[in-house]
Amino acid sequence: MRLLVVEDERRLAELIARRFRSEHYEVDLAYEGDDGLVRARSGGYDAIVLDRMLPGIDGIEICRRLRCAKVETPILMLTARRELQERVEGLDAGADDYLGKPFAFSELLARVRALTRRAERPLLPNVLQIADLSLDMQRHRVELAGAEVELSPREFALLEYLMRNAGQVVTREQILDRVWGYDAEPEGNVIDLYIHYLRRKLDVARPEPLIKTVRGVGYMIRA
Ligand code: CA
Repeated sequence: MRLLVVEDERRLAELIARRFRSEHYEVDLAYEGDDGLVRARSGGYDAIVLDRMLPGIDGIEICRRLRCAKVETPILMLTARRELQERVEGLDAGADDYLGKPFAFSELLARVRALTRRAERPLLPNVLQIADLSLDMQRHRVELAGAEVELSPREFALLEYLMRNAGQVVTREQILDRVWGYDAEPEGNVIDLYIHYLRRKLDVARPEPLIKTVRGVGYMIRA
């Protein structure tokens, strides 16, 4: 697998490269937009990790120009914040997925793996489904019995993580790492609070709740 990382924060770019190389990826780095665009255009990459904010041409513009030039390499865009507007812009410009900073490296790896898999099997649906609950990662939409449920970005990320691991208990530490990111220091019971928000939106009218508390361990969404 060959990966191009376009990221102007050199320390972060090198951390990303090191992590992927340890997973046997070949990684090329570009620290600014113009160089990134030239390299990406040359093709030959299985995926591109593209920072949105770059000196020179920014990530959005790189995406647009690549798609215009019919370069269809899967792109994961890194956005500085988990702002809906930024994600929508990235997806509209032709990115395949996004990840908000700060992120957990394990999630970045998983998403790049998913992107390269999806490129091989383009018809694979991008929707997680449990009972009457569905979560569409591409459209960033959650539906309960066919009706859209409004979730904050953090609630969405938490639900996505639980649904990806349906039927398995996930610990608070795992949730913190995957959903809050590598340098987060959230308040004491913030996870329990967000679980409470999700339950209020998804589990109120349900005789058997989808989200279960496993005492002393963590949480599980039923399969
Ligand atoms: Ca940047």
